[in-house]
Amino acid sequence: LRMVSSQPQGNEPISDEELRPQVLDGFIGQPRLKAQLQLFLDAARKRDTPPDHILMAGPPGLGKTTLAMIVANELGVAIRVTSGPAIQHAGDLASILSSLDVGEVLFIDEIHRLPRPAEELLYIAMEDFRVDVMVGKGPGASSIPLTLPRFTVIGATTREGMLPSPLRARFGFTAHLDFYPSDELEKLIERSAAVLGLSLDPGAARQLSLRSRGTPRIANRLLRRVRDWATVHELDSIDTDAVHDALALYQIDSEGLDRLDIAVLRAIVTSFNGGPVGLNNLAAMVGEEADTVETVCEPYLVREGFLVRTPKGRVATAKAWEHLGLTPRDDVSQ
Ligand code: ADP
Repeated sequence: LRMVSSQPQGNEPISDEELRPQVLDGFIGQPRLKAQLQLFLDAARKRDTPPDHILMAGPPGLGKTTLAMIVANELGVAIRVTSGPAIQHAGDLASILSSLDVGEVLFIDEIHRLPRPAEELLYIAMEDFRVDVMVGKGPGASSIPLTLPRFTVIGATTREGMLPSPLRARFGFTAHLDFYPSDELEKLIERSAAVLGLSLDPGAARQLSLRSRGTPRIANRLLRRVRDWATVHELDSIDTDAVHDALALYQIDSEGLDRLDIAVLRAIVTSFNGGPVGLNNLAAMVGEEADTVETVCEPYLVREGFLVRTPKGRVATAKAWEHLGLTPRDDVSQ
């Protein structure tokens, strides 16, 4: 099937795979979530039945795909990977479902982007392990009910609120992934450095962790860029100077903010005098989709206190003005 592949998509798929932990023990941080998931998996194994369906929610790059693969691996079952946008018709999903073996995991990335008819077909399949397959077209068409073996859906979403409640209700376990504190990212960077065979000073790991935007995917990406630096400069080990120089070259912000984060803050401050500004105006100003601004960029800016969401729109905080090297408007709250 075209829309099913065993490789998840990402910016750097091959190296992403190399750094992906295979077992729950190797998954860094998120201790509460790990304990919950461990219990959930142990119970399923003990009962020898596939576990309930799982929803992974949270911003991109925090480990949703990784956890899905760990779940399948820990259960010793195969995983099929697809995504909401890859499924254009309910029939696409019906054919994936009807080819699943007992116990298999079906991973649906960006599940909030499934077309409505596919969504309806999915929640019936999740509940009753049955699909209605349409045969023929037009007035002569008929539907044949097909019983499915028990399987586990793992959905991933950056927009949990966009899932219709009937679908959301079919998940027995929801994992909320949040940005990682820097001490967890530091461990993750040390682990990745070990996998890549790099020698990294503790200070260097710390520097990288502070500039990774709370996000494992970014931490790994920055580590690779620093590795490039070390390779070219023939360094035996990576110290804070190397991190500093490499990140300066790539214009990685001291707070880890990326190009879009900065563009958003700059737009609010300079084009809208600090806000409030509505999401759509803001997105148009930075030339991005509103969805990207809202799900990729804003959660981190809000968490780090650069931006607040108010009923009238987005407002830049004093911290944002100062980060851009500007003096806040008099009435901007600290
Ligand atoms: P998402 O599906 O949420 O966008 P991924 O699962 O693809 O994110 O994670 C991005 C990268 O970060 C992966 O290559 C994975 O190796 C790494 N990663 C994410 N979370 C962790 C973690 N908790 N421990 C170790 N590596 C992680």
